[in-house]
Amino acid sequence: MAELRLYDTFARDVRRFEPRETGRVGIYVCGPTVYGRIHIGNARPFVVFSLLKRFFEYGGLDVTLVVNVTDVNDKIYTAAAAAGRSSIELAAEMTSFYVADTDRLGLGRPDHEPLASQSIEAIVDYIAALIASGNAYEASGDVYFRVRSDARYGALSRREVDQMDQGEGVEGAARKEDPLDFALWKTAKTGEDSSWEAPWGGGRPGWHIECSAMSMKYLGETIDIHTGGVDLAFPHHENEIAQSEAATGKQFVKIWLHAEHLMVEGEKMSKSTGNYYTLRDLFAKGHRPSSIRFLLLSVPYRRQLNFTMDGLQQAASSVERLRNFKSRVEAGRFSAGDAPEIAARIQAREDEFDEGLSDDLNTAQALAAVFDLVRDINTAIDRGEFRQSNVPIVLAALRKFDEILAVLEDTDDAKLQALGFSQKRSGISDAEIEALVNERQEARRARNFKRGDEIRAQLAASGIILEDMKDGSIRWKRE
Ligand SMILES: [Zn+2]
Repeated sequence: MAELRLYDTFARDVRRFEPRETGRVGIYVCGPTVYGRIHIGNARPFVVFSLLKRFFEYGGLDVTLVVNVTDVNDKIYTAAAAAGRSSIELAAEMTSFYVADTDRLGLGRPDHEPLASQSIEAIVDYIAALIASGNAYEASGDVYFRVRSDARYGALSRREVDQMDQGEGVEGAARKEDPLDFALWKTAKTGEDSSWEAPWGGGRPGWHIECSAMSMKYLGETIDIHTGGVDLAFPHHENEIAQSEAATGKQFVKIWLHAEHLMVEGEKMSKSTGNYYTLRDLFAKGHRPSSIRFLLLSVPYRRQLNFTMDGLQQAASSVERLRNFKSRVEAGRFSAGDAPEIAARIQAREDEFDEGLSDDLNTAQALAAVFDLVRDINTAIDRGEFRQSNVPIVLAALRKFDEILAVLEDTDDAKLQALGFSQKRSGISDAEIEALVNERQEARRARNFKRGDEIRAQLAASGIILEDMKDGSIRWKRE
């Protein structure tokens, strides 16, 4: 395997990757905040960093991939309040949807998927240590990190400290020593229905400290690779560095990777413009997980990807082409004898594939190598130059590619069926659905959320998806 080089956001440069411990690598990915179903933009880092894990494993490394689930967060309180639901239930439901939706991508699961709500003890201990060292302070039940206690603050995002805004708005502003400080702990507010005990008073953690505590728990004080979407560099990752390095006195992360945004049909994805696709929407429209994976890998992670329906169709055709090629080689009857020049060409494509991925995960180059192989061999077969002895070599190359890309095996339909996805056809009529939706609205108006959730579950079992709209109305659709 070629030497792996990765673009480190901190260094603003490509760096040779060397694991801290020979043969082992730890990767931490900031996972989703579970206040809604995950969309195609969330799926990109999931696919890219699963690929990174596969690439390391293919190179013989023992990988620990940790992707956290942020299930305690302001966005969840806001979404739960808007839907008239308990934030705990909403987060639990969205977590299970996230797991189900990403399962369908067929890339396996990360090694650890810690929930913030299950890590409160570690978070409280972490905050207590930061208070004890003078890096944090209590203020009327809140706890804030003293940003100016960190002389290197701002080094990741290269921002001037005086021009920074933590994006915490007016909340807590009066309690902060300095507007630059950010919350580690927030005192419980009315309307927030989850709260935990802490020495400085009941409440819940801020978002940034959740990741520092969870990454330390699973990967130790220094992490080989920390990743996330590019929008997380500031303030989230900057704050993780400040907290972690203040607590341990050690370098927090060796290499920072940031995945670029995804656009949809050339525009920023948003619910209001109607170009907002959840993974579930795409599966429900009949798009295969392999097409989605292929499309998300077709552009290197540091470049913006424009997701289009045409692109998804093309991805499906590319996957089909690859599968047809494999069948052609498997089923063909070729002349006996050697064709060493063909074996050499196959090896050259394998080398290009390795070089592509080793060059900061250049998946476009890796895929180009795969399709160059397909074209080469198809031509050789057409010209009668391909020999039976080349068959196992080509198949081995395809298997190798697919150990990382995971697009060749046509297990999508079986996988979807095993998950009960494509089989769930409801016999429920529109009128019956409307009646249940109305009953649920009534129950919720009467603040009988238990009944409301029962009806939601009953409809979900019949393959009916409810969407709570901002104006309080409900939209429903069949899977
Ligand atoms: Zn994070």
